[in-house]
Order: sequence, then structure tokens, then C-alpha cells
Amino acid sequence: MRLAEHCRERLAEIRAADRFRRRRVIEGAHGPEVVADGRRCINFCSNDYLGLAADPTLSRRLAAAADELGTGSAASQLVTGHNAEHAALEAELADWVGRERALVFATGYAANVGVISALMGKRDHIVADALNHASLIDGARLSGAAKQVYTHANAGAADTALQACEGGHRLLVTDSVFSMDGDTAPLAALADSAQARDAWLAVDDAHGLGVFGPGGAGRVAEAGLGSDRVPLLLATLGKSVGAAGAFVAGDDDVIEAILQSARSLIFSTAPPPALAAAARAGVASARAGDDRRRHLHGLIARFRRGAAELDLPLETSDSPIQPLVLGAEARALTLSDALLARGYLVGAIRPPTVAPGTSRLRVTLTAGHSAAQVDGLLAALSDAIHDGAARRRCPARESA
Ligand code: PMP
Repeated sequence: MRLAEHCRERLAEIRAADRFRRRRVIEGAHGPEVVADGRRCINFCSNDYLGLAADPTLSRRLAAAADELGTGSAASQLVTGHNAEHAALEAELADWVGRERALVFATGYAANVGVISALMGKRDHIVADALNHASLIDGARLSGAAKQVYTHANAGAADTALQACEGGHRLLVTDSVFSMDGDTAPLAALADSAQARDAWLAVDDAHGLGVFGPGGAGRVAEAGLGSDRVPLLLATLGKSVGAAGAFVAGDDDVIEAILQSARSLIFSTAPPPALAAAARAGVASARAGDDRRRHLHGLIARFRRGAAELDLPLETSDSPIQPLVLGAEARALTLSDALLARGYLVGAIRPPTVAPGTSRLRVTLTAGHSAAQVDGLLAALSDAIHDGAARRRCPARESA
């Protein structure tokens, strides 16, 4: 069979299952207001939690550093790709999250896959939350370790799973804030369990960094968990830090061992040094961002109050991720369409990203939003839900 023919069949299957996803074209800079597919709308789909992705402090630093350092790093880190800007960024990240050392990766996906597969092998055991991010799942698969999945956010179930592991090393791995639900892992209880069962705990603080903890040092810092309790701390620079890339932080020897063996880092060109310079500006802004954090948490409380008054199906989340779980895919799509028609961009999340029957609108709030924009979203939600026409699915819709 010709490849194109095979792909046509695959695409037909995806369409038949109503799982075809289309990218939107965004014009201009990222922010609370965007032009998506030619339509200006208020953006409630972004992970730019502190509103730094288009902040002039970062973009000016990026431009100045690109003028000075060029655009490409031209080699992997262990060859000649490790610039002084990367080294400074790593030192500042380690200082921020209170670890001896940090190691930068090109993306969070590469960090999670690289770290887990570097440290774990066929004779080892990985115990993972059922709702962990895909990159943690893929890292576990690549490592070849035996894997046990425990009920979401259930520390007792994690403990039982750890107890059942025989031989080899044990790694307990979890998101801090879950990306599609916005809730938080029971980090202290998981750390207790890991300690009691002689396991290492890895926490992906992608959605906690910048948002929680002293100076925005993250959900792990907020819980007061140092490297003795969480020896592997991972986070991305593409969300609250407003840049791109990611890092793992921990004790010096742990980080050195990862540098020596993480294939997603060794066999990949280092990120541009100018991007590291921009990330440094992002880290500085995030650390000094108490005003932004206060505003963001005020908006989260405002959204939750308003949504409760409207009797919307809120989840247990104190994070910028505020899903409204609606059940059927068509209902989530219909509401997303109805909101877009009213000028609000809110993603409909459905299987396979979430479990069947739990399709949802994933509202994400940022420090860039105003109270009036949040009130506007709530009014649009109320309007769309009560508008009978909005319940009818637009048949031509092919959504993200
Ligand atoms: N971990 C989590 C929990 C995430 O939500 C994401 C991105 N959505 C990643 C890792 C991957 O990070 P990056 O986008 O930098 O690849």
C-alpha cells in the first residue's frame, strides 16, 4: 500500500471518530486578546500564567541577546552548545527552586522523557498517577521499567503500588498541578510514602512554577519539600516564565548523571543562547512577580465565585486551570463554539486527552486578564448555556 493511501485511511478513521483536530492560526503576539483564524477574541486557552510571553522586558532581552549571540547554538550541550547564558540560567533556576543544580532541556517533553529514561531501566519500577502528563508516560515507556498506575491523586493507592514493587529501583512520579484538571497532587503524603518505601519521587511542577510558593518557586517549594523529599524536580519555561525550554533540578550528582545519559539532551541541539537570556529575564520577572500572582489568584477566586453562582460544574482547583466538565464531547464542542461566537476562546478538551464522558471546557486564567474580561467570560458562559440554539452542534466544526 502506498503511504499516502495508508494515511488517507488513518485520517478517515480519525474523522469518523470525530477526533480530527485543526490548528488555529494566531496573528500577532500572544496575550489575553488574540486574533485567532482572523477573529479577535479574548484568550482563555493560554498557559502564560503570569502574562510574560509578550512582556517587553523579555522580548527586548531576546532581541539584544540575539544581536550579540546570534540565533543558533549550533551543537548539542556536550559538544559546544552550552553557552554562558545557559550556565547562568541553570544557576538562577537552581537558586529559585532551592536545589544544588539545574539542567536545561529544549522542552518539557524532552526533559521528562530524557530524565526518566536516563535513570530507570528494565529491572526497575515506575509508579505513576493515572492523570500524569503524556511526557511522563512516554518517559516511563522508553525506560523499559515495569509500570504501575495508581488512582488519580490517591496517596494510599500510590503507597500500595510501591509496596508491591519487588527488586530494582522505584520511582514515584506525578504532576504537581494536573494539566487538564487543575487539581494538585498530595505532595507531602506522596513524599512520605516514597521515603517509607525507599522510592525516589519525581514531581513535574510545570503548572505550579511561577504561580505558587514563595517568590513563585512552585508547588513543591510551597509544600516545603527539599531535595531529600523530592530529589527530581521538573518544570517548563514555556508557561509562567514566558519563554521556552525546561529544566530538571536536584542534587549535583543526580543532575550530572542525567547530563551524562539523557538521550533527549545529548543527541539534540541546545536551545538558542538568546532564548536562555530571555528565560533569565522571565525567571527574574516571575520571582519578582508577587503583584502578578496576587492579581492572578484574585481572578481565580473571582471566576470560581461567578461560576458557582451560575451553577457551573467546577472542579476542585485553586490553580489557573479551571475546567468545566460537561460530559459528552458534543456538549463541550457546542459550548466552545458558542463562546467563540461571543468573542471568547476556550478550548474543548475531549478524548483521548481526557477520559470518555469527561469532555470539558478548559478555562485558563492569566495575570494578563482583567476582572472585566473574567466577568465577560462568565456572562458569555451564562448566555451560551441558556441559549437553546447553542446546544445544537454545528456540523461543520472540526476542533482542537
Ligand atoms: N509537563 C506538563 C505537566 C505539561 O502540561 C507540559 C506541557 N503541556 C509539559 C510537561 C511539556 O512541556 P513543554 O511544553 O515545555 O514541552
